[in-house]
Amino acid sequence: MAHQHDVLVIGAGGAGLTAALYAAHRGADVGVISKLYPTRSHTGAAQGGIGAALGNVEEDHWEWHMYDTVKGGDYLTDQDAAEVFAREVIDAVIELEHMGLPFDRLPNGKIAQRRFGGHTKEWGKAPVHRAAHAADRTGHMILQTLYQQSVKRGITFYNEFHVLDVIFNEEGRAIGVVALEFATGELHTFQAKAIVIASGGFGRLFKVTSNAFTLTGDVQAILYRKGWIPLEDMEFYQFHPTGLYRLGILVTEGARGEGGILRNAQGERFMERYAPTIKDLAPRDMVSRAMYLEIKEGRGCGPNKDYICLDLTHLDPEIIEKKLPDIAEFSRTYLGVDPLKEPIPVVPTAHYAMGGIPTTLDGAVIKDGQGTEIPGLFAAGEAACVSLHGANRLGTNSLGDLVVFGRRAGLAAARFAQANTFVDLPPDATGPARELIEGLKGNTGGESPFAIRKDLQETMMENASVFRTEELLEKQVGILKDLFERYKKVTIEDKGDRYNADLVEAIELGFLLDNAEALVHSAKNRKESRGAHAREDYPERDDENWLKHTLVYREAPGKVRFDYKPVVITKFEPKPRVY
Ligand SMILES: Cc1cc2nc3c(=O)[nH]c(=O)nc-3n(C[C@H](O)[C@H](O)[C@H](O)COP(=O)(O)OP(=O)(O)OC[C@H]3O[C@@H](n4cnc5c(N)ncnc54)[C@H](O)[C@@H]3O)c2cc1C
Repeated sequence: MAHQHDVLVIGAGGAGLTAALYAAHRGADVGVISKLYPTRSHTGAAQGGIGAALGNVEEDHWEWHMYDTVKGGDYLTDQDAAEVFAREVIDAVIELEHMGLPFDRLPNGKIAQRRFGGHTKEWGKAPVHRAAHAADRTGHMILQTLYQQSVKRGITFYNEFHVLDVIFNEEGRAIGVVALEFATGELHTFQAKAIVIASGGFGRLFKVTSNAFTLTGDVQAILYRKGWIPLEDMEFYQFHPTGLYRLGILVTEGARGEGGILRNAQGERFMERYAPTIKDLAPRDMVSRAMYLEIKEGRGCGPNKDYICLDLTHLDPEIIEKKLPDIAEFSRTYLGVDPLKEPIPVVPTAHYAMGGIPTTLDGAVIKDGQGTEIPGLFAAGEAACVSLHGANRLGTNSLGDLVVFGRRAGLAAARFAQANTFVDLPPDATGPARELIEGLKGNTGGESPFAIRKDLQETMMENASVFRTEELLEKQVGILKDLFERYKKVTIEDKGDRYNADLVEAIELGFLLDNAEALVHSAKNRKESRGAHAREDYPERDDENWLKHTLVYREAPGKVRFDYKPVVITKFEPKPRVY
């Protein structure tokens, strides 16, 4: 079946819905394609809050928020993006409130705010209350609110449609999309004047992850496979310090924001040694590394000394039940640990992609280090890299990113659609997608996607996670080559058309492998330590050679090419990063 919309958005999380709403507001006819029912998007799992210098609890300024973001990103953050963000997120939060988002309140009726890692006042002096929240279900409330507004606006949704290809014309303009309808197995074509990609992250690359099963970096991979569209800063992948032991299910940083403390087996508050000023509220890359080191040096908790204790037992039980109800419940349900009475066992968990599809401040996707825009193609949210988060994202800055840059991408897409006409799709637009599906259904006698995915996740965890070395990354390059070979023969049992989850899993595994390739090669290439990219063999940050963004292109399977993009520095010269 063929469809047509002025603006087509891929993804119905916070970024996609914001883009859709603003494009519709500008008068565009908008369609949204989502492989999930919209309110099941991962944005709905976000817990702790959305950061904005509202100053409701204490004095705060957008400049401080900008500074924290740049420093948190280990100076790889583009400072023009950080400025736009820190200014515009204030209005964006108030706008969400006006749309009906039920934020927690202060006694005076204003939106409540709590502390979060790396957010400070007076240029790093002490933690500040900046995260607006709705208990520990902030993302759920944002997603519900945005979806209600989208329905009210009459936006067309294609739910449980998997995008398998983006179509370009000879001039390199994005003109349409091909998607598989889960219920029927039918391939649909979508013609669009402008396309916004908001398809989220790829945390399922790793074994221990906070990310939902569906976060497989699909559209990053679709573009990367074209060979002429790069991915930016893929080596920077964030590990959140507090995932439930063994499971990776997230315990929000809000738990530390409310006063929770990390302790080693000796009961020591070890973050005092690593970040004397803001301690447990240091940025995530630093806390995750400190936890790894504590465990490595034999000070981990438990019989196997392989986790850290998140201690909330000194907090007022009412704070836990009212402000952190979900994480208390997760801890009781999944670990049988009551956080009122004993500490929660935690380990770092794969959480967030700082890198992704490179864009301008208006969400236009670019194809090289000079910032050349690809006409008709926009991206926002975790799938994109604007680069607001640099080498390490601060907590609460993703939800803000979704609404600030989702809005900008939606408006820019609507403007592009107003100025341009539809382009006819090639006669066999669905060809490559059909080949992909038929190829997978035709394979016999190979392994299941499950076996390959398990090996991918375990080896990525071992060789490309919190600490990295040339040797480990080189090893992982070899492992990936092997996994790609095995994937060629991947075999699925279900050969049918309707609700073929087997097929979808196999397709998503292919996307994950592509993201892994881009990540591992970029990590091997960057010979320094910065933010979330910690090289044991190159422990120092090297501004002279590496204060630049990586752009990675696929030349051929297993073979990549690099280009670089300068970091935008406006207000804050790079300095050593101490907390
Ligand atoms: C457990 C958890 C807690 C978090 N807590 C916070 C927090 O407190 N504060 C904060 O700032 N950040 C938090 N984050 C990070 C933040 O929630 C995410 O980065 C953000 O929600 C991503 O939003 P998005 O709109 O980019 O993508 P998502 O919300 O992940 O949505 C992706 C969308 O793309 C669609 N899609 C993907 N592939 C395809 C395809 N091939 N075809 C069609 N559709 C497709 C999906 O259906 C979905 O609708 C948290 C993340 C996790 C995992």
